[in-house]
Parts: sequence; structure tokens; C-alpha cells
Amino acid sequence: MLYNSTQNASEIVSSAQAIAQGISKDGGLFVPQEFPKYGEADFKTLLGEDYKGRAKKVFSDFLTDFSAEEIEACVDSAYTAEKFGSENPAPLAYTKLDGVPLNILELWHGPTCAFKDMALQILPHLLTRSLKKTCDGKDAVILVATSGDTGKAALEGFKDVEHTKIIVFYPVNGVSPMQKHQMNTQEGKNVNVCAIKGNFDDAQTGVKRIFTTPEISEKLAENNMLFSSANSINWGRLLPQIVYYISAYCDLVNDGKIAFGDPINVVVPTGNFGNILASYYASLMGLPIKKFICASNSNNVLTDFIKTGVYDKNRQFYTTMSPSMDILVSSNLERLLYNLTGNDDKATRAWMNALKGEGKYEVTDEVKSVIGKKFYGGFCDDRQTQATINRLFTQESYLCDTHTAVAVGVYEQYVRETGDLTPSVIASTASPYKFSKAVLEAVAPDIDLPETEFEMVDKLNELTGMPVPAPLAGLKDKTARFSAVTEPDAMREFVLSALGIG
Ligand SMILES: *Cc1c(COP(=O)(O)O)cnc(C)c1O
Repeated sequence: MLYNSTQNASEIVSSAQAIAQGISKDGGLFVPQEFPKYGEADFKTLLGEDYKGRAKKVFSDFLTDFSAEEIEACVDSAYTAEKFGSENPAPLAYTKLDGVPLNILELWHGPTCAFKDMALQILPHLLTRSLKKTCDGKDAVILVATSGDTGKAALEGFKDVEHTKIIVFYPVNGVSPMQKHQMNTQEGKNVNVCAIKGNFDDAQTGVKRIFTTPEISEKLAENNMLFSSANSINWGRLLPQIVYYISAYCDLVNDGKIAFGDPINVVVPTGNFGNILASYYASLMGLPIKKFICASNSNNVLTDFIKTGVYDKNRQFYTTMSPSMDILVSSNLERLLYNLTGNDDKATRAWMNALKGEGKYEVTDEVKSVIGKKFYGGFCDDRQTQATINRLFTQESYLCDTHTAVAVGVYEQYVRETGDLTPSVIASTASPYKFSKAVLEAVAPDIDLPETEFEMVDKLNELTGMPVPAPLAGLKDKTARFSAVTEPDAMREFVLSALGIG
């Protein structure tokens, strides 16, 4: 299977190259030229497999320049019970709200307690092998812009991985105290962390600019290094996410929640559009998904886009209690548009250029109409988010984080508006303990809030009885290693000096 750029279909690469390079030279994103199609027999086989078995099947169909042994080694070392708490790294929790069943796909049992671990525990394995195949002997410099969770998950995934260095940028006021503490205490010889005075989009734009500045790349090349990306623009991030939708479907069938072949809906709290895109790709492979329900917080640029076909990032930016979704430029939407236009690289490039230039574009009526049929967009503000956490906990003793609550809230809107009760998988993307303050205020609005982050964690634990994930509990005693804060314009200098080639 080969991959090409969304902005230049004649830029064709192998899967190893797509992963090693991260982003195409023209600024486009790599996409598979076609999707493997799974029929009844394939899904029946997958029903009998465990998570790793399902992952191996999907990976081997997309990464055709990897041997079966390589894929097996990558999968086996990534999804261990030791790292994810059980043999199934992505278990379903069955609960309900006001009588409506919720099938919650808990994707946060990994080492950093957010769904990013699902991809970032395996990406370093895929990337180091890809580098070996395509440019042996060079060190990869991983630049990450994070809205909170990617940074920590990438640091943890790449720490002390040979022939890699990783530098993470996060918005100084745009992540939760726990997320900040997770990143600033990161261990490892090859890691670096820097806050920027700006929001996530500034960080992401800065990283993209560094990637595409030829003189910086040349400087790296002189020093036997090259850039790569662990952001969800990297194909190696998206592919692992396809697996858990397929696996969740199999689990629903095996658990007797749906019959084999029944359609499902998916509900995804969305930021950069990677997670929901992975579910869309699973549907292209034959997974029967009826509706893609795209949940946003007050940064509801996607809600408006799905309703009107106009993507307009010229709007107020809100810092919310679901910071991993505080994003106005959802990079992976580019891949959806490419697919929905029948792989039209010129149209995709024109829209992305308009986004860069005017901050705005409008898709064609055809694309609008397909999006309207397949997608539903909705959003919840912070007040609604906390109300949802409260109701779910009060009614069912199920505690969810702020991002998951946005998804649950939008799902309720969807059911109310459409009456559609197709069984739905709701992606739960983080542990509530990563956002203890907001979750604590939601379940106990009247208490006096403790002062420190870890007192809030303890209080939440005391009130709910939900165990604190060990990786978060263990942070209490760690001291910060990183404290740099810079202007977005100075990111490039930070990178060069961190690499010792400034
Ligand atoms: C990254 C993240 C999201 C958004 O996922 P995208 O793939 O960027 O749409 C949602 N919730 C949490 C907790 C996250 O870390």
C-alpha cells in the first residue's frame, strides 16, 4: 500500500516514509491511496481475536512494507497489560443517562491517562523501524505542539528511545495544572519541554513553520538529524486509532449489546479531528457506522462547519475546562476533505491555502451534502459540561472527565433532536483525575475547594471512591525539570539550542 499527499497526489511514498517524514514536503498530509475492505469473514475472524490480534491484522493491511514479525513486535511491546492495566487496553463501560444507554469506550488506561497513549505507545516503535528502512543512521527530532495530552504521551512514548530526541511546546495558560506537572517532571535523556506565550494554534503553527523552513532542515541534515512529527498529522498516530473502533465493535457484538452487522454511531470529543477521522477511516474499511457525532466545546468551529460548510477560524478563542479541545484549526479535517472530494488534491490545497491566508474557506455543495448526511456537529459550554458530569455521577456513579462529558452532552442533544437510538460508542479520552478541579466542582459544587492540585485529587477520590491512576498519584513527589517559557517567534531558536546546533 502506498500513501500520497493530500495536496499533491503525485507525491507518493511508502508507509515507512510517510511515518518517518510525518508531513509531506508540500505541507499536505499523507493518506493511504486506498483502504483495505473487510468483509463478513474478516470481521468474524476479528471477533475471536484479542486487542493485540485485531491490531496486528489492521496494521499489517496498512503497513505493507513492514514484516509480520516487525508488526508483531511493535504491537506486543505497546499494548501490554503492564502499561494499560489489563489485556484490553480499550475497554467498554456500559452505563446510561436518563435511561439512554451509553457505551463508553475508555481510552485512557495507558501510562499518561489520556487516549493519546493508544497511538503514542506504539508510534516510537513504528517510527524507529521506519527510520531504519528509509534513512538509516540519522537521529529523528520529534517536534510536538500540544494542547496538553499529546505532549505528555509523546514524551513518555519516546523517552530514552535511541536515535530520537523530542521537544514539546505547550500553551503556557492552556493546559491543566496536572498536564503541566506531567510534562515538566518528565524523565529521560532525550526530552525537552517549553511553554509558549500563545494558544495551541500558535504552537501548532510554529511547529509547522519550523518543519517547512528549508534552512532549518538543512542545518539538521548537516548534523545527521531530521525532523519527524508525533502530532496526529503523522499517519503513525492515526492508524492505531482505527483499531480501537473496530475492536469496540467486536466487543459490543461479543458482549451481546448489538448483533453482528448492526450499525452503530460514534461520538467523539474533537479537537484536531484525528480521533473522529480514525472512526471514519474504519467505516471506509467496512465498519458499519451510521453517524459520526462530532462534539466540541465553546471553540465550536467544527460545529459550525458541519452545519454550514464554512470553516472560519476568525472567531474568539476560549480557554475551557476541556483544554485538549481548545483548537480552532483542526488539522486532520484536511484528510476528510480530500476523501470527500474523491481525492481532489487541488481543491484540498486551495482550501488549505485559503485557511492559511484568510483563515476561512467554504466547501462545495456536494461536500456539504455528504458531511450533512454522515456527520452531526454539536457543542457544550463549560456549564453544560459540568452539569453532565454531575448528572452522570449522581445517577449512575460513573465519573467522567470534562472532554468525555462534552461528548456525552452532545450525544444527548443528538438523541433529543433526532430520536435516533442506534447503539453509540462514546470515546472517553481522559481520566477525570487529569482535570480534578473542574470535575470536583462538578460533582460537589458546594464544597470548599482545596488549594493544591493533589489535594483536589485526594478529595475527588474521597468523594467518589474512584481509584487514582498510579501514574498520576506518583507525580506528587516529583520535582519539575523544565520551566522555559518563550514567545512563539522564538520557538525556532529554542529548538536549535535544545539540539545544540544553535
Ligand atoms: C487530544 C484530545 C482530544 C481531541 O482529539 P483529536 O484527535 O485531536 O480530535 C479530546 N480529548 C482529549 C482528552 C484529548 O487529549
